[in-house]
Amino acid sequence: MSSFSTSPGTRDILTPDAARWRKFQDVFAGVVEAAGYGLIIPPMFEDLGVFLRLGEATDVVTKEMYDFEDKGGRRVALRPEQTASVCRAFVQHRPTTPWKVWYAGPNFRYEKPQQGRYRQFDQVGLEVLGVEDPYLDAEVIALAAQFYDRLGLKEVQLSVNSLGDAGDRQRFTDVLRAYFEAHLSELSEDSQVTLTKNPLRVLDSKRREDQTIIANAPRIRDYLSPTAGEHFAAVLAALDAQNIKYVIDDRLVRGLDYYRRTTFEFVSTALQAAHTAIGGGGRYDGLVEELGGPATAGIGFALGLDRTLLACDAENVFPAPNTDVFAFVVDTTGGHEAALVCNQLRMARVGADRAFDNRSMKAQMKAADRSGAQVAIIIGSNELEAGQAVIRPMNSGEQYSVNRADLLTAIQNEVSKFQSAN
Ligand code: AMP
Repeated sequence: MSSFSTSPGTRDILTPDAARWRKFQDVFAGVVEAAGYGLIIPPMFEDLGVFLRLGEATDVVTKEMYDFEDKGGRRVALRPEQTASVCRAFVQHRPTTPWKVWYAGPNFRYEKPQQGRYRQFDQVGLEVLGVEDPYLDAEVIALAAQFYDRLGLKEVQLSVNSLGDAGDRQRFTDVLRAYFEAHLSELSEDSQVTLTKNPLRVLDSKRREDQTIIANAPRIRDYLSPTAGEHFAAVLAALDAQNIKYVIDDRLVRGLDYYRRTTFEFVSTALQAAHTAIGGGGRYDGLVEELGGPATAGIGFALGLDRTLLACDAENVFPAPNTDVFAFVVDTTGGHEAALVCNQLRMARVGADRAFDNRSMKAQMKAADRSGAQVAIIIGSNELEAGQAVIRPMNSGEQYSVNRADLLTAIQNEVSKFQSAN
C-alpha cells in the first residue's frame, strides 16, 4: 500500500495551531467590521485572464501561477492573491461606492518552499473601491497597525512610499531604464532580464551584486506630479496626526505591477528569517479599468497569516486559545452517566467531553488532564448509588461532592469563578 503526505509547500494545520488561526481571523474581523468593512468570499479559482491583469513582469504571474485547463476546456488559475478577484467582483456586481470589503483565506503560488514561504498560504486583507481621499490611505494603514497591536505585536515597522500616478510612473520608469542600461554589465543576470520587462522591479532585487547600483538609482519622489505629491504629503500628515510611526522607503515598489501612489509594507523586526515582510498593500487606481470596469480608485492590503504568526511566536504573544471543553466527565460505572452529564452541560452551553470504552479511573483521569478542561466530574459506583458527583478542579482547589440535581449549578459557578480569574 502506498502512503501519502502533504505536497511541498503545503501543511496540515492541526489543533491547537488551527484554533489559533481561527482566532487570528476573528480578531481581524473584529477590527475591520467595526470600521464598516463587510466580508467577501471570492472563489479560489478564476479565469486565468483575471490574474494576468496583475502584470507581465510579476513573478506571481509569470512563474508562480497554478493555472490549468479544466475539463470544460477553460483556462483557469488558483488565485495567487485576492485583490484581482475583488476588482473582478466589483465589475461584475457594480456595488455602490465606497465599497469596503475584507477577506480571509488561502492563496496559491508556485514558490520555492522555505520557512515563512509556502505554496499555499493564508492572508487576511481588505480593499476599498471608489475613494481617492488620502484620509482613506491613512485609515487603511491605521487598521493594519491596530490589528497588529491587537495581536500584541510590538516589533513591527511600517515603510511607506508613493509610486505617483500612471504618468509619473511611466516617466520615472523611462529614467530608471536609462540609468540601469548605463550600468547593465554590473547588474545580476536576473535583474538584466527583469529590466527588459519592468525597470521598477529591479529596485525589488535582493541580490547582493545589485545593491550599490540600486542605492544610487534615481528616486521616484523627484518625479511625482504635483497632485501625486500632494496626495502623498496628505497621507503622511494624516499618519502623523494619528501618531503612526513610519519610515519613507524610496525603494518600496512592491511585487505587483498595478500599484499607483501610496504603497506600504509592514516588516517584523523580531523575525530573523529571510522573510520578514508580514503584510503590505497600496493604491491600485487602474486595476478595475484593466478588468473592464469604469475608472475607479482602489486601495487595500493583505497580511500574511503564516508569517505574522511566526512573528507572534518570536515576540511570545498571541498564544493558541484554551480549549472550549470546560468539564471532563470521568464515569467508571459504564459510560451512561457520562452521556447524560455531557448532554446536560452541552445543552446549557458548557463545553464538556468524556472518555469512551469504559476505561479505568486512572486512564480517564489522564484523558481529563490531556483535554485541557478546568474541572473533572467524577462519577463512580458510590456516587451513582448516592445520587451524587464529585467535582475536581484540575489546577487548584479541593475536590467536593454535590447532589446530581445541583451539578449544573455547581459547574456554572466554577465557570464564573474561572472567568473572573482570567
Ligand atoms: P503580497 O500579496 O505578495 O503583497 O504579500 C502580502 C503578504 O502575504 C506578505 O507580506 C507575506 O506576509 C504574505 N505572503 C506572500 N507570499 C507568501 C508565501 N508564499 N508564503 C507565506 N506568506 C506569503
